[in-house]
Amino acid sequence: MTKYKLEYLWLDGYTPVPNLRGKTQIKEFDGFPTLEQLPLWGFDGSSTMQAEGGSSDCMLKPVRHFPDSTRKNGVLVMCEVMMPDGVTPHASNKRATILDDDGAWFGFEQEYFFYKDGRPLGFPASGYPAPQGPYYCGVGYKEVGSIARKIVEEHLDLCLDAGINHEGINAEVAKGQWEFQIFGKGSKKAADEMWVARYILQRLCEKYEIDIEYHCKPLGATDWNGSGMHANFSTEHLRTVGGKAYFEALMAAFKENLDDHIAVYGPDNHMRLTGKHETAAIDQFSYGIADRGASIRVPHSFVNNEYKGYLEDRRPNSQGDPYQIASQILKTVASVPTSEEAKAAA
Ligand code: ADP
Ligand code: MN
Ligand code: MN
Ligand code: MN
Repeated sequence: MTKYKLEYLWLDGYTPVPNLRGKTQIKEFDGFPTLEQLPLWGFDGSSTMQAEGGSSDCMLKPVRHFPDSTRKNGVLVMCEVMMPDGVTPHASNKRATILDDDGAWFGFEQEYFFYKDGRPLGFPASGYPAPQGPYYCGVGYKEVGSIARKIVEEHLDLCLDAGINHEGINAEVAKGQWEFQIFGKGSKKAADEMWVARYILQRLCEKYEIDIEYHCKPLGATDWNGSGMHANFSTEHLRTVGGKAYFEALMAAFKENLDDHIAVYGPDNHMRLTGKHETAAIDQFSYGIADRGASIRVPHSFVNNEYKGYLEDRRPNSQGDPYQIASQILKTVASVPTSEEAKAAA
């Protein structure tokens, strides 16, 4: 038997953005445990905005687990928060009720700032560094400093060790701003991996005395870029059948449901979605081929392939909850009948 270190992770009850929490328990197993072998575990919900002090127990239900290469015999255990009965989802547990579909694929592009001493990493103590321009995908100390790349490389390796489908990294437009991409098949799988990748990044940064700033416009109404979490998506139907008529009906449904999308695309998004700097206006829906100023960008490859492939919703922001973002996209897609469904109904 081997003693494993199980790090149970969950989302707390803070609003509008939950925080990641984690605590460790040690359990003995013959080998790397299966998900089914991981027990329910309790925590003090009164310390996480998830219960009143008088009756404070909440339960953690393991839903996905990953090897943790930072620890000897380490396991990262993503959990859903349940009521004390262990079966009723807690009100803060969005994952329990989202739409999911293995045929729906999501690629999230997480942008964020490294922060040190209350300002973006590399910013001088007062004033600003040279204006943005050379930082995006930049190389050299002047552009990216000496620590950021070390962190993003370590983060990449830790995610790959965990089996997370981390797909890439780039330095972003603002100084101290970076991006990583996570791709997954199914909304729960893609979103679980995004939350665990965020956890790994935040934990990794502790030893560098650096924080991650996920706010979508940390530098306010300046020319400095905000942070998004573009959601690239495709369904089985979009990849294999598609077609211009279906695509146009889909875009009409996205327009119709604008408010429902914005409601889960992250807080303070009005600060970012101004219609300037390659963003769409928050109250208008638009789409365009290779248009980075549209709500939804339609890749050239999509149009060239008879309207088949994936689309990029550019509105979700860096603080958005990938569970709710993916679910809302699926909800809107599901409201549009495919040509076969329309024929069957006629
Ligand atoms: P850009 O910065 O140009 O918008 P990225 O390369 O950062 O693009 O991100 C593109 C994302 O699209 C990747 O995360 C990738 O996984 C995702 N993607 C590619 N093909 C599909 C697909 N068929 N369905 C869903 N997502 C996809
Ligand atoms: Mn990108
Ligand atoms: Mn980007
Ligand atoms: Mn993008």
